[in-house]
Amino acid sequence: MAMHLTLSRVLRLLVLAYQRNRKLPAMQTSHSLLLTLFAALTLSPLQAQKEPNLAHITHAIQPENIERTIRRLVGFGTRNTLSSQTDPQRGIGAARDWLYGEFMKLREGSGKRLIVEKQTFIQPVAPRVPQPTPLTNIVATLPGDLPADQQRFIILSGHYDSMCNSPTDAVRDAPGANDDASGTAAVLEAARALAPYHFKATIVFLCVAGEEQGLLGSTYFAEQAKQQKWRIEAMFTNDIIGGTRGGNGIEDRRTVRVFSEGIASNETEAEAKTRRSVGGEEDSPSRQIARYIREVTAKYVQEMRVTLIARRDRYLRGGDHIPFNERGYAAVRFTEPNEDYRHQHQNVRTENDIIYGDLPEFVDFPYVAKVARVNAVAAALMASAPAIPQGVGLLTRRLRDSL
Ligand SMILES: [Zn+2]
Repeated sequence: MAMHLTLSRVLRLLVLAYQRNRKLPAMQTSHSLLLTLFAALTLSPLQAQKEPNLAHITHAIQPENIERTIRRLVGFGTRNTLSSQTDPQRGIGAARDWLYGEFMKLREGSGKRLIVEKQTFIQPVAPRVPQPTPLTNIVATLPGDLPADQQRFIILSGHYDSMCNSPTDAVRDAPGANDDASGTAAVLEAARALAPYHFKATIVFLCVAGEEQGLLGSTYFAEQAKQQKWRIEAMFTNDIIGGTRGGNGIEDRRTVRVFSEGIASNETEAEAKTRRSVGGEEDSPSRQIARYIREVTAKYVQEMRVTLIARRDRYLRGGDHIPFNERGYAAVRFTEPNEDYRHQHQNVRTENDIIYGDLPEFVDFPYVAKVARVNAVAAALMASAPAIPQGVGLLTRRLRDSL
């Protein structure tokens, strides 16, 4: 893309210079052309670095890095939100500090633009939180280039906490290789691929805690964003994006499901009345984002196929996009095509020769890399696009036969 844009810019400059000078004496024309060429040539290496190159971005995303991240996260034994915050080897605190360090490593390659923060808050008692507990989201922000666009946000997220059978069991192993080290690894790898480039809008790489405790980290983040009036144009959650052999026996290494709500989670009664009259269930911003993801995947990540699921989430399940939906933001969920419940929220054990547990051996690392590519490409294109037009609507108050 960069090469194409740079070349077309050079050509356009040459044509403009020619048109502007064609009636001038030859010497002036060639002088002007030389100046234009000089400007184009001196600018082009800089431009090539700055402009996102989709082919480079997708090639930069490597299954080996994804595997390393997942195995490292599993190595913390448990990442239950109620587990140790201070043990340097085991528990969510150790995972938090390691993740923070991994994002910090990407700062240099971003020209020191990537801002890495620990967003910590005290979670009060909740159904799955027996006592007030500090929760920490890891937030890595790649600011947009232009001040006017910096307030536009594209968010890529996954949750780094995990659980075994019981969401409040903070002691037993909860490897969480697929749920959701896979999503966390995809976000970290997308950050690695995107951080060297410049974008119009701001991209946030978000790894939240407390998902299994009731979407607590993402709820806190979404609420902060709403209070600060952030313009979040799209939020993706990657949750369980590593399995390619389902409990139903079907193997599929090409498809990823993208869930999106039709009717807005924060729809008012008045809006519902209008919708019942004129329709529009398919027009929600989240559904538009989902369709856009499918479109750009078909074009730029041809080894993948996006299946749109016209629901907010799977039956009786939830994810970190929901707190965003509830606050009026466009947000979608990525999940593998066929899930296997023997490897989700299970104590690690063998029963009747069947292995239960969310272990790395059931994660397809190249597949996770492909989902990360879909994320990165969609985010790169959205963050390079102009802002969403504001206040555009269709007036349906009165029917008239002619204007
Ligand atoms: Zn999950």
